[in-house]
Amino acid sequence: MIIIMKPKATEEQIQALSASLESQGMQIQRNAGVGCVVLGVIGDVAHLDPTDFLIQPGVERIMPVSEPFKKANRKFHPADSVIDCGGVAVGGRKLAIFAGPCSVENYDQLTDTAFKVHAAGANILRGGAYKPRTSPYAFQGLKLEGLALLEQARELTGMPICTEIMSPKLVEEFDRRVDVIQVGARNMQNFDLLTELGQTQKPILLKRGLNATVSEWLMSAEYIMAAGNPNVILCERGIRTFETYTRNTLDLSAVQAVKQLSHLPVIVDPSHATGLNWMVERMSLAAVAAGADGLIIEVHNNPPCALCDGAQSLTPAQFAQVMGKLHAMAPIVERVL
Ligand code: PEP
Ligand code: MN
Repeated sequence: MIIIMKPKATEEQIQALSASLESQGMQIQRNAGVGCVVLGVIGDVAHLDPTDFLIQPGVERIMPVSEPFKKANRKFHPADSVIDCGGVAVGGRKLAIFAGPCSVENYDQLTDTAFKVHAAGANILRGGAYKPRTSPYAFQGLKLEGLALLEQARELTGMPICTEIMSPKLVEEFDRRVDVIQVGARNMQNFDLLTELGQTQKPILLKRGLNATVSEWLMSAEYIMAAGNPNVILCERGIRTFETYTRNTLDLSAVQAVKQLSHLPVIVDPSHATGLNWMVERMSLAAVAAGADGLIIEVHNNPPCALCDGAQSLTPAQFAQVMGKLHAMAPIVERVL
C-alpha cells in the first residue's frame, strides 16, 4: 500500500502515522515525492482497511498495491484449478453441464427429467430442494424430502447432484448428502454461510450476486477459501441492469475477467440470466465461446406446470438440441463435451 501525504502535512503527522503502522508490524519506506512525502507500507496489509487512513491527519490519498484476494488469485496460482465434483471434473478442457429442474417437485418429475438430461449428455444433476423465493407465499421447496429425492435420482442415473443451501445450519447435512453445494445469488455475501462452507472440502458453486461486481464476487470466493475450502466454482447468472426485456443481463465479459484474475473455474447460467427459454440455446453457445468451463441449464419435463421458473426452463428435447449444437461448437474453442 502507498500513502501519499498532503503537501502541507507536518513532520509530526508523518512520523505519527509511520509509528502507528510500524507498531502494527509494517515496515515504512519513506520517499520524498514532488512537493509531498510518499510512504510505502510493506508487510501483510490484508487486515488494514485503506479507507481508515484517509481520515488520518495529513493524508491525501491511498493506493492499494497488493490484490485484496489471495487464494483465488491467478497471480499466486497460475494454473487453472480443476475441481472434482463427485467424479466429474469442472475446470478442465471438458465442459461441465449441470442440468435439471429449478425445484425438485416429486419423484416422477425429478427422475424423468434426470434420465432425459443424462441421456442428452448432462453430467451433473441440479435441482433445488431449498428455494430462495421472493415471496414467502411461493413454493419454498421440498427441503429434506427434496434432498432424499435427489439422492434417489443420483442412485438411478449415476449423476452427481448439486443443490442450493440457504442456512449455515445445514452445511453438515449437505456435506454428507450432496456432491456440489450451490450458493445462490441472494446469498453470495452471506458471510456466515460462506465461512461455514469453508469448513468442508465439498465443491461450492458460488453464483454471482444480483448486484455484485467481479471483485466482490471473487472476495466471496476468498471467504470460502480463506476458511479452508479451495474447491470453489464460480457461476455467472446475470446481473441487474436498467434492461427489463430479460430477467437479468448476462455479463459474458465477466467470464473473461474472472479467468484473467482467478484460477477458479467459471460456468454460466443462461436460464436465470435471461429468464426466457428461447434465448437459452444461443446464450449457451455464446458462453462457451466466451470461455466458460461449463453451463447450468434449467430443464423441466413439463415446463408449463413447473412450480418455479417454468418460463426459462427447457423441455428435455430442447435441452438435447442445445447439447447437439454445443457438440458442434466445442472443438472450435478447443473444448470437449
Ligand atoms: C436457482 O439456481 O434456481 C436460483 C435461484 O438461482 P439464482 O441464485 O442465480 O437466482
Ligand atoms: Mn431457478
